Amino acid sequence: MNPLRPAILAAAGSERVKRTLTTSPVTAPLVRRFVPGETRSELVAAARELLASGRAVSVDFLGEYTTDRAQADAAVAEYLALINDLAALDTAAVPAGAAPLEVSVKLSALGQWLGPDGPAIATENLRVLCTKAAEAGVWVTVDAEDHTTTASTLAAIRRVRPDFAWLGTVIQAYLYRSVDDCRDLAAAGARVRLCKGAYQEPDTVAHQHRADVDSAYLRCLDVLMQSSARPLVASHDPALIAAATDLAARAGRGPGELEYQMLYGIRTDEQTRLAGRGEFVRVYVPYGNQWYGYLMRRLAERPANLGFFLRALTTP
Ligand code: FAD
Repeated sequence: MNPLRPAILAAAGSERVKRTLTTSPVTAPLVRRFVPGETRSELVAAARELLASGRAVSVDFLGEYTTDRAQADAAVAEYLALINDLAALDTAAVPAGAAPLEVSVKLSALGQWLGPDGPAIATENLRVLCTKAAEAGVWVTVDAEDHTTTASTLAAIRRVRPDFAWLGTVIQAYLYRSVDDCRDLAAAGARVRLCKGAYQEPDTVAHQHRADVDSAYLRCLDVLMQSSARPLVASHDPALIAAATDLAARAGRGPGELEYQMLYGIRTDEQTRLAGRGEFVRVYVPYGNQWYGYLMRRLAERPANLGFFLRALTTP
C-alpha cells in the first residue's frame, strides 16, 4: 500500500487543497488526464473517440455525498440529458456482447445522504434513470462508495434490478463482506464490476495490505467466473488481468462473456491491446466540475502522480 495514501485521501476533505488544485495552472494537465472535461459536450467528444477505437464507455457525471435535494435533482436531470446525448453516438466499432453505452452512478449523488428518506429517494432516482436508459438502449451500473453506504446501495440495487436485468453492481474486493456479496450476485446472474476499492477503510471492515486485497480479488473473481454472472474486471493490475484471462479460459468464457474495464487516462496502451485481441473493453469516463474527490482517489493510487500534486501545493 502507498504509505502516503491515507494523507492524500484525508486531503480529499480539505477546502484549502481543493482551492489550490482548482486554481493552479500546474494541476490543470493532471486533471485533464483523468477527467476529459467539465461539460457534456467535452465528454461526448471523448466518448466518440473511445467508441471509434472499439472501446465501450461507462460515463460518470461527477458528484457525491450531496446533502441538498436540489443538487440531487440536478444530477438526475444531467444524467437524463447525458443518456440522450450518448444514445446519438455511433457505436458500430464496438464488438457485440454488451451495450456499448453505459452510465455509472453514485447513489450518494442521487440523494442517498438526504436524511432518513435519502435511501428511498436515491432508489427512486435510480429507477428513473434506468427507465430512461432502457428506452435509449443504454445500461446503468451503480458505483460502490465508502463502506457506510454498501448495505444501502446493495439494497437499492436489489429493489430495482428485477425490472432492469442489466443493472450492474460494483463490488470492492478489499471489503471482508465481498466474497459473500459476490456469491449472492453470482447466483442472481448479475453484471458485477469487481474492483479493488478506492476509499480509506478501517481494518474492521477491509483488508489493509495489497497482497490480501489481491487474494480477495481473485477469490471474488473465481466465484463470478464459475457462475452465470457477467464479470466486469475493473483493474489496471497486469497480474489480475492475466489471472482474469486464465480464469475465463478455464471457465470456457469467450471474449464476449466478460469485460475488461479501466479508467479514462490510465493504461491506455493496455486498453488498446486488449481491444485489439477482440476482448470487450469498457472505459470509465468521468466529467463535470465536481472532479476533486475523484482526482484525489486517483492520486492516492499512484505515487508517480504525486509529483504533480506536491508541485501544485508549493506553487504560489
Ligand atoms: P493497482 O494495484 O492500484 O494498479 C495497478 C497498476 O495500474 C499500477 O501499477 C499502475 O500501472 C496502474 N494504475 C493504477 N491506478 C493508477 C492511477 N491512478 N494512475 C496511474 N496509473 C495507475 N473503486 C471504488 O471504490 N468504487 C468504484 O465504484 C470503482 N469503480 C471503478 C471502475 C473502474 C472501471 C475501474 C477500473 C476502477 C474503479 N474503482 C472503483 C477504482 C478501484 O477500486 C481501484 O482503486 C483502482 O482501479 C486501482 O486499482 P487497480 O486494480 O488498478 O490496481
